[in-house]
This record gives sequence, C-alpha cells and structure tokens, in this order.
Amino acid sequence: MITKKQKGVISFLIFFSFLILILNVVSAWTYKRGMADLKIQGNIRLELYSNYLHGVLGKYESLPILLAIDSNLVNTLLHPFEENRVETLNKYLETINRVSDSLDTYLMNKEGLTIAASNWNEKHPFIGQNFSYRPYFQEAMKGKLGRYFAIGTTSSKRGYYFAYPVEKDAEILGAVVIKIDIDSVEQKWAQRDESFLVSDPDGVVFITTNPEWRYKTLRPLAPDVLKSIEENKRYPDTVLTPLADNLITYEEDVQLLTIDVGKDIEKMRVMKQSQFMPHAGWNVHILTDTRELQIKVLLVNILITLGLTVFYIMLLLFLQRKQRLAELNRIETTSKKALREANEQLESRVLIRTQQLTATNELLRQEILDRQQTEVKLKRTRKELIHAAKLAVLGQMSAGINHELNQPLAAIRSYADNGKQFLEKGRLDEAMWNLGQIGELTERMAQIGVQLKLFSKKSSGQIVTVPLHGVIDGALEIVNPSLKKAGISMTINVIPVDLEARANHVLLQQVLVNLMSNALQAMEGQEVKEITIECNGKGEKVLVAVDDNGPGIAEEHLQNIFEPFFTTKKSGQGLGLGLTISDRIVRDFGGQIRLARSKGGARFEFTLERTQ
Ligand code: ADP
Repeated sequence: MITKKQKGVISFLIFFSFLILILNVVSAWTYKRGMADLKIQGNIRLELYSNYLHGVLGKYESLPILLAIDSNLVNTLLHPFEENRVETLNKYLETINRVSDSLDTYLMNKEGLTIAASNWNEKHPFIGQNFSYRPYFQEAMKGKLGRYFAIGTTSSKRGYYFAYPVEKDAEILGAVVIKIDIDSVEQKWAQRDESFLVSDPDGVVFITTNPEWRYKTLRPLAPDVLKSIEENKRYPDTVLTPLADNLITYEEDVQLLTIDVGKDIEKMRVMKQSQFMPHAGWNVHILTDTRELQIKVLLVNILITLGLTVFYIMLLLFLQRKQRLAELNRIETTSKKALREANEQLESRVLIRTQQLTATNELLRQEILDRQQTEVKLKRTRKELIHAAKLAVLGQMSAGINHELNQPLAAIRSYADNGKQFLEKGRLDEAMWNLGQIGELTERMAQIGVQLKLFSKKSSGQIVTVPLHGVIDGALEIVNPSLKKAGISMTINVIPVDLEARANHVLLQQVLVNLMSNALQAMEGQEVKEITIECNGKGEKVLVAVDDNGPGIAEEHLQNIFEPFFTTKKSGQGLGLGLTISDRIVRDFGGQIRLARSKGGARFEFTLERTQ
C-alpha cells in the first residue's frame, strides 16, 4: 500500500524527470536554431571579410609584376656595380613605395641578396641583407608570384610579401619584392561584435581583430612544422601557443572553441567558421560569441521550469481539491446512509412500540370497561346489601313494631266497642270522644307506616342538606317500639337544635338505626339501659356520636368489628354487615365511623360536613 507521502514523492520524481526531458529537448532545439542563425550570419560576414581581404591583396598583387619588367630593375641586376645605378634605383623604389602605400619595396639578386630598397635611407635598410631563406623568394626564383606573410627580420614589422622574378631573355636575374602593411586590415574590422582571424597554412594566426590572439595557433603544432617556421624566420622572437583549450567540430564547416577572452576571467565559447583563400594560401576565420545564445537557452530553460512548476503546483492543488471533494462526498453518502438506516430503525421501533402501546391501550380500555362494569355491579350489590341490611334490621324490629301496632289496634277495638255502647245509650258526647280517640290512634299508626315505608324503600343515595333533628326523629320512629320494649332510656342532644349537615336522609337514618339497634342488642339483660345520641356543630363539621352503657367491645374483636360478616351474635340475630355498611355510607358523606373512648360501653362517632 503506497502512503500519501510516497505518492507525493513519486509524483514529484515523475514531474522532475518530465521537466528534465522537456528542458533537454527545448534546450537542444533552441540551441540548434540559434546556432543555425549564427551560422548564416557568420557565413555572410565571413564572405564579406574574405572579399575585403581579396580586394586588399588584389590591389598590390600586380605591382611586382609591373615592376619586374621595369628596365631600371633589370639593368641594375645586370650591372649592379655601375655608378649611380643602385642609388637611382633606391630613390625610384622609394617613390614607387610611397605612391603605392607599401611598407617596403626592394630588389634581390638571384642569390637572395638585397641590392636596392625603398628604405635605403632608414635606420635599418635592407640593402646588403640576404633573404634567400624566405619562401616568397624561393617561389619567385621558380618563376612564380611568391606570396608570404612574415615578420620582418630587420624591421620586426608584420607584412605580407609579394615577390616576382625579374627576367632577361628567360633568365631569372633576381626578384622584386613588395611588403604591404596589414595593421590597417586589422584595425578596420576591429570594432565588430564578432572576431576575425587569418591564419597561415600552418594554422598560425597572423591577422586578428583581437591583438591578444596574434601568433596563437589554432591547433597544437607538430615539431617538424615548428622547425620549418623557425628556419623560414617567419615569426622571429615569438612563442607559438594554441589559442583554444579544445576544439569541437559542431558541423562540417563549423567548430566550437573555448578560448580565453584575454582580460576577462571567464572563458568564451565561440563558433568558428572558416574559408580558404586559395591565392593567398590563407584561412580566414570568423569567431562568433555564443554566450548570448547560451543566455537565451538559459532564459528559455528558466521560463519553462517556472511555467511547468506553476502548472505542476496548480495541477497538484486541483487534484488535491478534487480528492477532498470526493472524500467529502463519500462522508456525506456514508452519513446519509447511516442516517437513513437509523431513521428506518427508529421508525420500525416506533412502529413496534406504537403497536405495543395500542395493544396496552386496548387492554387498559378493556380493564377500564371491566372496572366500570364491576363498579356498577358493586354499586348495585352495595345498594342491595344496604337494602338487605335494612330489611334485616326491620326484621329484628318486627316484634316491637308488631307490638306497637297491636296496642293501638286493641285500643281502637275497645274505643269502637265503647262508642257503640255510648251510641246505644244515646250518650253522643262520650261516643264522639271515643271516635275521636280512634281517629288519633289511626293517625299514629299511619305515621309509623310512613316511617317504615320510607326506611324500607331503596334510596337514590343523593347527598343533600338534611336537618339532623329530623333524621334522628325518623330513626327513633323505627327503633322506638324496640327501645320501649327493652326499657331503654334515650337521651338526644342536638346542638344547636337546627343543626344541618350534608348527607342522605334515608341512609343517615339507616346508620343511626344500625348503631342504636347494636347498642340495644348489646345491653340485653342489663338492668339500666341508656343510649345517648349527640350531634355537635363544630365549625365546618358536625360530630355525631351514639353512646351506650353496654359491655363495650372485647379487646380481641376490636380489629374485626368493621369487617363484613363479622358478628358475635347468635345466628338469626345478626348478619355482621351493620357496621360495614354504616361505615361505607358515612364514607360516601365524606366521614368515617370510628370506635371512640367512653366511660363504659361503646361509643361510635363520625363527622359530617356542616351546612349553615
Ligand atoms: P351484627 O350486629 O349483625 O352482629 P354489626 O356489624 O352491626 O353486625 O356488629 C358487629 C359486632 O360488633 C357485633 O356482633 C358485636 O359483637 C359488636 N358490637 C356492635 N355494636 C356494639 C355495641 N354497641 N356494644 C357492644 N358490641 C357491639
């Protein structure tokens, strides 16, 4: 697996190799084109320079030929010792020399001895000097036009020599020589950008626009060539050293040299183009500085490097950005997928949960329904129970009630009998009184009947404001026969007298009847039987208490007396529901029955909400 860093290094290496390749190709191309341009320009200049040199030499070339046929020269050679002949010729040659603007003009005999010269009057005249070693002389003696470049052995001046044989009747008597100045040739072309060189057939530079290069050789010379130069005394007192360190052939007619530019520290790479001048036996060269071209190539390289580097950096940035965008896209897709999955999971969980909740809801609803039904059933059962308890109480009291009704009935019978007898005797007033008594008694019986009917009917259970005195009186109507029969003394205290509370008349009556009948049964067999009913209005509340002086409730039964069906009574006497139902009824009124402390016997009390 390639790391990011390694990738970077590889991409840089590829870029670097590509850069090097491009630089190489472009450099080679630029250099080649530059060199081609330089070559064309160099060729044109070289041609010009060669033509110029040709012109210079052509100007003097015919002069020795003309002089050779001059009778003055021929005669002097024939008769060198004739009086005034040499002196006359010297002046003649001096004139010719001045007119033709030559350096020296002189005549040599066939031994090479100079017999007359234009410089006869100067410090070091040529007269008497032998130049037979010079090649130009040797050429002339062969009947040819001798040409030669050399430094004058006497004058030490550079010059180009033309020599031509002086003949008489096809016999060579000697040679006439003209030496021309070549300094002007150098100076005229010196102010150019390019450098011109002229070398002799040995490769020694003798004309150059750069004086430093004079007498340098274009190539290292072989020892035998050096020896021949020495013999010809061509360059006396000169050391011939090579101009260039190395020489590379660039093209067939173009060579490259690295040369010392003299005072400059740096070395100069130049392009050398050459042309051979056949008549003169010279090689003309032009050296063109290639440094400008090298700088141009360098600039092109720098530009390409900069351009490609900028392109490379831009490409890197672009790729990096693309990669980052792709990464972001990937993260976004992954997050979206994760989000979608989480959403789906959540939705399915919500669905499951909703289904569970719906099921639970359904169950709860069912339970509520069941509960409501149970409650309805319970209420009905309770009502029935209450009614049953009522009837039970009534049953228990039936003996007393029976007695209570039988007594007036017996009285009514005797009042009726008495009334009948008084009517038969015509004693109307007494008969009327007896009838009146009958009426009162039936009234009394009807009242008992109303109370019993009231007590025994099923109550709606509605809570309203009830006068406590009224309720107690109603209850007493029911239990009175039994109380009387048992000989119980009853005490009622309602404070204040018009005390009212929130309750249901019939149900509250039932509670009081229950409590009083319990007390009554508990006190059975006692000598003194007392029941006290107290109703006290205390602030917002009414305290109702039923007290007796019976045996009270045994310790072991205290926990159980409010439990349904708990009874200590003999079978047939109690159902064990009296206290349970009474407590239930009082709870519906907002109170609670409790067994309170008492001096002796039992005291049951409860509170009701008072109404003003
Ligand atoms: P029942 O009267 O049918 O037995 P109750 O619920 O009215 O049912 O009473 C339960 C029991 O509480 C009675 O059996 C009795 O033992 C006791 N009890 C109730 N009132 C008194 C009282 N005033 N004195 C003594 N015991 C009582």
